[in-house]
Amino acid sequence: MSEAPLDLVIVGAGFSGLAMAIRARQAGFDRLVVLEKAAGVGGTWRENTYPGAACDVPSQLYSLSFAPKSDWSRLFAPQPEIQSYLEGLVAAHGLAPFLRLETRVERAVFDAAAGLWRVETDRGDFCARVLVGAMGALHHPALPRLPGLDSFAGTAFHSASWDHACDLRGKRVGVIGTGASAVQFVPEIVDQVAHLTQFQRSAPWILSRGDRPVGGGRRRLMRFAPLRRLYRASLFWRREAAALLGFTRVSTITALAEAGARRHLAASIADPDLRERLTPDYRLGCKRVLLSDDYYPALARPHASLVTAPIRAVLPHGVVTADGTEHPLDVLIFATGFSPGGSLLRTEVIGRDGVSLLQAWKDGADAFRGVSVAGFPNFFLLLGPNTGLGHNSVLLMVEAQVAHVLDALQRLREHPGGVMEVRPEAQARFRAEVDARMEGSIWTEGGCGSWYLDRSGRNRTLWPGTVGDYVRGTERMRAEDYSLTDSPGLCPGPAKGLALSKP
Ligand code: NAP
Repeated sequence: MSEAPLDLVIVGAGFSGLAMAIRARQAGFDRLVVLEKAAGVGGTWRENTYPGAACDVPSQLYSLSFAPKSDWSRLFAPQPEIQSYLEGLVAAHGLAPFLRLETRVERAVFDAAAGLWRVETDRGDFCARVLVGAMGALHHPALPRLPGLDSFAGTAFHSASWDHACDLRGKRVGVIGTGASAVQFVPEIVDQVAHLTQFQRSAPWILSRGDRPVGGGRRRLMRFAPLRRLYRASLFWRREAAALLGFTRVSTITALAEAGARRHLAASIADPDLRERLTPDYRLGCKRVLLSDDYYPALARPHASLVTAPIRAVLPHGVVTADGTEHPLDVLIFATGFSPGGSLLRTEVIGRDGVSLLQAWKDGADAFRGVSVAGFPNFFLLLGPNTGLGHNSVLLMVEAQVAHVLDALQRLREHPGGVMEVRPEAQARFRAEVDARMEGSIWTEGGCGSWYLDRSGRNRTLWPGTVGDYVRGTERMRAEDYSLTDSPGLCPGPAKGLALSKP
């Protein structure tokens, strides 16, 4: 028995997966499912519930252009509000019937004979023409391999799986890591704890955040679409200007921003020794630039200490550093970031010739416009390689990618049974463009190491240019970049999941 396939299976119900589902439905593609391993939507915004979690791009820009919200409570909305925005999208766009929660994808295999994807999950199989990977890049917590870690007798957890049952009041708390997560939660917990020890391997560059509540008058103004769009555009262009002025290289703008960050540090920290230890020894922009007005003051509290000696080992009662000092601790919090690549690299995705994505990417992640990979027909990625941003809202990149996929879906609608695959030469051309733009970039020349770089030192994480450049080259799919072949386009045998999948 053969069946008609779904139009598309989207894996992941975070920002990008939901955006894809909404846009696909608006374009008339109703035979779709969104598979999500968790019990709810939201992705990173559902998972990261640490105190002080918030976006670091203003919410009027860090939201979907086609799903505006006029009443964000603050310039940078806190996590619960972003999560409720995402849950609101499900309700407002009638997505519930298309969601398959608590459904983990185990394997996705392209059946070349049928021209279809077979997506195997722990709740049954799905058969679809198009597979969209919207699994996010930063999902799997990275825990440092520290000797003695398992011997710690206190409570230990990662910032992305915050232990809300752990009462920090009166405890000696150690925090390892000084990235975007730490600078948000350290100020929130510092006044609860008996002592806070911040272990710093590298000092981050921090600029003032200027967060503030959005008053009723301004919220009312935001209800007028032209004003809201104007405000969004002004937020966009202020950030885009950094890219236009060449923030991807060590340049005048680097020196100007560093001077601003040094002034911010000097205004927050009076102690010259602490200030010295909080001053980065690499160029601004080499790692993600952080925004905070309360992290430095938190470290200046009498019961907080900044430890810059490397960690030698974890002991049952604390941490010992390379200088032999023991730091007694009741709680150890890892703010040590994520293994890039997220779930995508942990899911078996098998392309046209039986080659897995992991094999295809053995020398590094590579995708045409970060979206499609030769050898993986009718497969599209959202927030794939080289499409992260350091200077602007990454949702702008997601929307361009969603538009690209929609063009592909339209083309496939016109060609029933059609199979589209990015031409290897188009992918190679894009790789060459990225490599040329990366030449001499701040990420390799700025004197730091970071998770942006892969083992060979290549930046396969960020887009090395303006958002405008990326969007212009991505939002319209060019037919000549893809081959189009015919296939039967019928699911070979019943796919268990199809019964489940009927909206
Ligand atoms: P992160 O930026 O990767 O920072 C990890 C920190 O842990 C760094 O300070 C790193 O030091 C330190 N570290 C890692 N391994 C260590 C070890 N073995 N010993 C000592 N220190 C170690 O992680 P994150 O703060 O969770 O942020 C990850 C990303 O999530 C961000 O870059 C951002 O894209 C996103 N994020 C966004 C927001 C937002 O507001 N939108 C908030 C939080 C996170 P080194 O610097 O020396 O490597």
